[in-house]
Order: sequence, then structure tokens, then C-alpha cells
Amino acid sequence: MKNKIQFQKGYSLIELMRDYGTEEQCRNTLFQLRWPQGYACPQCGGKSHCTLKTRALYQCNHCHHQHSLISGTIFEATKLPLATWFLAIYLLTQAKTGLSALSLHRQLGVSYNAAWSLKHKIMQVMKERDDSKVLSGVIQLDDVYWGGERHGGKSGRGSPNKTPFVVAVSVNEDGHPIHMNMNVVKGFRSKEIERWAKQHLEPGCQVVSDGLACFSAVKKAGCQHTSIVTGGGPACVSLVEFTWVNTMIGNVKNSLRGAYPAINHRHLPRYLAEFCYRFNRRFELDRMLPRFCFIAVRTPPMPIRLLKLAEVYG
Ligand SMILES: [Zn+2]
Repeated sequence: MKNKIQFQKGYSLIELMRDYGTEEQCRNTLFQLRWPQGYACPQCGGKSHCTLKTRALYQCNHCHHQHSLISGTIFEATKLPLATWFLAIYLLTQAKTGLSALSLHRQLGVSYNAAWSLKHKIMQVMKERDDSKVLSGVIQLDDVYWGGERHGGKSGRGSPNKTPFVVAVSVNEDGHPIHMNMNVVKGFRSKEIERWAKQHLEPGCQVVSDGLACFSAVKKAGCQHTSIVTGGGPACVSLVEFTWVNTMIGNVKNSLRGAYPAINHRHLPRYLAEFCYRFNRRFELDRMLPRFCFIAVRTPPMPIRLLKLAEVYG
């Protein structure tokens, strides 16, 4: 049998160029996605307007208020052509593995700084999107550190210079993975796990974790909890309850290490979100770009100084 993911109908670079190769096509697409009911003046609500095409500005015929296509969105204040954005979004959403700012800089012919900011803005949209959804059903949950080996020994829980995050994978009745979340946490403490669970899990879901004490705090978020004491080591990897969460932990570590030689720990949440975003939409390659743009015009601007700020937990 053919692999369902590898052989799905994709979206080729040729199709991308055909649909979004010019500024006008990109502008029209964003306009449709931002104002599906037609443009309405944010000042007076008037629908009648004229377009100052070169700057993608809309001017109200009634009160003359001007509004730009991209103001108030993640695209705000960009100096890059929209077609460059679309190509970057295409590359980042369709790629099987991550694409670094350096490769983006080379492939798009933009400066490294522009590529970095483009990549992090796109990852920010992915993060905000997946943060707005909760996992439900049966959920495999585990704790991980970025920058060290997991479980046991000095390099495990509680050691310095490692960023703790949780990995949660929802599985169906056949035990197949459906969706996943990976979120950096302040530490593996009950209060923090409770906060995380309230944000990312649907009340009533069934959480299965190992024996780490703080995980029982998901009950305070209204979830059921079963803990299976594994004792760590290779034996726990073979437990069916943890098959997928263990697989995903292995995959994300390999993928991030392979694509990004040096991840700044402060930005780990966005890299994790990018990995999950692609996984959660692995059956939707052909629809990924318009769906991404629909969210992008609803994601607030993220100036570079904010992008570079200290880590956001979530
Ligand atoms: Zn107006």
C-alpha cells in the first residue's frame, strides 16, 4: 500500500508560481482572506472605497480614511515583496524537515536578517495557531529537555542549561497519532503542568504519562490521568502507551538537530511549534498555504525586537 502522506496530492512549485507568482496575485489573495465579505472602512464602516494599488492602500470614499492591506497583520511594515513571503511560506510549510534562516537567505536572495525575521514571523503564526487549539481524547504525555539526554543521570531532569518542554500526542482508538503539541514549560512542577494543561488540553481528556509526580496536576485542569511507572531506560520506549510520544520526541530532536545547528533556547518554543504545525497538517499539503495566510492576516504584527525578546512559555 502506498504511504498516505507521501503520495497525497501535493502542491508543486510550478503551481505556486502560477497562483502566487506576482504581487497582484498575492495582494488579491490576502485581500480575499482578510475581508471575505468585502472591504469595510475600519473608521466609519463604509464599504465604498478606492484602491491605491502600488501601495496596497484602500481609501474610504466617505471619510477618506486610508488602510493598508497588511497593517495590523504579521506582514505589517515588511520591506519584502509579498511574492517573497508566499514563497517562504510555501517552503516552510511544505518542507519535510525544517529550513534554516541561512538556507532561506540563500534560496530567496534576501539578506540574512530579512530571512531570519521572515522565518521567525512565519513560525510565530504557526505557534499562535496551534496554541489556540486543544488536544482531546487519549493523550500520551512526556517530559523532555532540549540540550540533554532525557531521564536519569546528571544530564537528565533538573540539570542546568537545558530547556524543559512537554510533548503531548493525542491518539485514536487504533493507537494512531492525530495531533500533537510541544510546549516549553518553566519546569516540571505541579503548578506549571496545571497551567499548561488548562491552556492545551480539553477537560475530560484521558492523559497517560510516566510516573513523574507533577503530571497528576492535569487532574486540576479537569483531565483524567493514568500514570505508568516505567523506571526509565530502553524498556519504557517499548511500552505501547508511550509508542507515539517516544517516536515524536526522537523525531523532533533529530529534525531540529539536523536542520538547525544552533538553536537559541529562547526561541525553542517557535521551533517546536513549527515541527508540530507541519505534523498536524500532514494530510493537507495542498491547502496549507491559503490556510496559513488566513491565519497570518489575523495574527498581530511582531516587530523584530519582540521576536528577539526572552522566551515565551506556552
Ligand atoms: Zn470611512
